[in-house]
Amino acid sequence: MKKLIVGLAGNPNVGKTTVFNKLTGMRQHVGNWPGKTVEKAEGHFKHGNYEYNVIDLPGNYALSAHSMEEIISRDFIVDDDSDVIINVVDAANLERNLYLTVQMMELGANLVIALNMNDFAKKKEHIIDIKLMSKLLGIPIVEISAKTGDGFEKLLNTVEKQAKKPIDSSEKISYSNDIKGHLAELQEIIKKDETLMNVPSIWTAVKLLERDTIIIDKVQKSEYGSKILIEVDKVSKHLHDVYQEGSEEVIANARYAFIDGLVAESVKKPAVEKETTTDKIDKIVTNRILAPFIFIIIMWAMFQLTFTIGAPFQDMIDVAFGSISEFVAGFIANEYLASFICDGIIGGVGGVLTFLPIIILMFLFLSILEDCGYLARAAFTLDKLMHKIVGLHGKAFIPMILGFGCGVPAIMATRTMENEGDRMLAMMLVPFMSCTARLPIYAIFIAAFFPDNQGTMLLAIYLLGIVVALIVAAILKRTMFKGLSTPFVMELPTYKVPSLKGILLHTWEKVKGFLRKAGTIILACSIVLWALSIFPLGVEYGSADSLLGMTGNVIAPIFAPLGFGTWQAAVAIIAGLAAKEVVVATFGTLAGMAEDDEAGITSLVHDTFTPLSAVSFMAFTLLYTPCFAAIGAIKQETNSYRWALTMCCITLVTGYIVAFLIYNVGLLAGFG
Ligand code: GDP
Ligand code: MG
Repeated sequence: MKKLIVGLAGNPNVGKTTVFNKLTGMRQHVGNWPGKTVEKAEGHFKHGNYEYNVIDLPGNYALSAHSMEEIISRDFIVDDDSDVIINVVDAANLERNLYLTVQMMELGANLVIALNMNDFAKKKEHIIDIKLMSKLLGIPIVEISAKTGDGFEKLLNTVEKQAKKPIDSSEKISYSNDIKGHLAELQEIIKKDETLMNVPSIWTAVKLLERDTIIIDKVQKSEYGSKILIEVDKVSKHLHDVYQEGSEEVIANARYAFIDGLVAESVKKPAVEKETTTDKIDKIVTNRILAPFIFIIIMWAMFQLTFTIGAPFQDMIDVAFGSISEFVAGFIANEYLASFICDGIIGGVGGVLTFLPIIILMFLFLSILEDCGYLARAAFTLDKLMHKIVGLHGKAFIPMILGFGCGVPAIMATRTMENEGDRMLAMMLVPFMSCTARLPIYAIFIAAFFPDNQGTMLLAIYLLGIVVALIVAAILKRTMFKGLSTPFVMELPTYKVPSLKGILLHTWEKVKGFLRKAGTIILACSIVLWALSIFPLGVEYGSADSLLGMTGNVIAPIFAPLGFGTWQAAVAIIAGLAAKEVVVATFGTLAGMAEDDEAGITSLVHDTFTPLSAVSFMAFTLLYTPCFAAIGAIKQETNSYRWALTMCCITLVTGYIVAFLIYNVGLLAGFG
């Protein structure tokens, strides 16, 4: 006979005691928890080869430190060597019940869900896809009736199976990206501390943000205690700034978003139920047929607004840099020093900074969409749409959508995917999402060649990125990454009017990254490009005879089949490996700011491209090898150069093929 210790957990009035009585019959003992005034019911029975010891845990809604009952339940899960926790769940009140389930998952409990009260669920006409829900949670679910004893045999068999192969249920939890990021920061420090490691680090992190006094006490005494608590304060303050709510509420909302996503996916409810505002909006926004159109319209509006509002500011900055340039040129006698400042620095860095208004606006709109809850919806619906067609994991869409901002955090966001293959695939696709750094490139070319359809052209480019990513995904899924992917809950946060402070903070965080790049890598590249343009001394600045021109001429033939076999384009593409803004900085240094004022870049582009080769060039820069930072992020995340190299190859080959097709089909169609 093997011994099995099993805890019964659940909300009050879900049928725990009924289950307990059915299982143990008369063989039970009711006393108190050691040293506590809370009743403890314990019972024994035999089933198959097992001798069960069942403990009816106090019923509660949470696992915080607010009441003795809650503390007893969580201590039981953490400290007592129970083999399995049976979580009795009221099928007719899933959302409320799963809130406790999620907290037990944070604890990494080895769970089996006993779905009870199914008669009530049927009365409410809720149809639960138990198989799917179980897959999404990674937890076995058995339908039972505590009253009649239906399903008990299956429940016990499942418990025995689960006892042999325990799971860490904390791995299936996913909270929204912002929160996940902050939790990950905390978890990293917590994981260093051996004394804290008898529970999953996510639990400790969450509890600290919830200001759980018991856990704070424990952490305080631990090795890295003070360091952890300082970080907790920082994160709490940040969350408060962004969400205008205490971190405890933020965490609660994250749990509900997870549950809402799970329920939306796996439960069908009749339409007559009273609907929240979120339900009403979701009926349209996540409607299978309307959703993709809504997504496209919102993106289009975003691009159109970005250009319309951004353009005047952009002109202002342009003019300002122009006059600074003129002033400097007149002021500094030394010809080379003047060229260094005007062509090199103002032309390169200034050329990129001109796009600051557009970039700020783009980040601003993205932050609004993210904070109001729409981006999560977009991922949710894209998931439904694409899962079957492409075989792409739903979780992959969040990193991909984040990739519109910047590839580096997007690549890091793939951490939430537990299946290695899915995660690698997602990482390979992120670079196809057009990041904000590429925006200045399109801005120049669209303004130069398609001034009447700016928003539409930009939308087309972004969609091209998505479509290419999906095609590549479909191909890779059938070649490199075969095998089934594990389903995952896509969280659905409730819609809310985002706080101004939160949006501004999120926008600023991203803009800061752009400014830092301007001051470091873009500046450095501009200086190198300037030097290559002016040497050997005596040649015409930025001409084909300069070092830059000579280098470019060697590479240029490679790009001739794509329609832009000029040395300027070749140099810009190579330089763009450092950062995509440097493509623009290259044109900026080449055009120089001093002599030609704001028309510099535009006229250079007009001289070196046709509308067709411009489109081909935009497609190539959209798809080809991303910047060093993104390559580095993949190396870091996979801990292997092989994957980083694979990604470089995939993107380069894809970019080349697509640009080749665009240019040559365009020629055939007479757009040459
Ligand atoms: P506990 O608070 O979780 O221990 O819940 P109890 O076991 O005390 O059950 C609460 C009430 O729900 C009791 O009146 C049970 O008879 C009833 N109950 C338990 N399971 C079911 C079920 O599957 N269907 C229905 N309709 N009632 C049930
Ligand atoms: Mg009870």
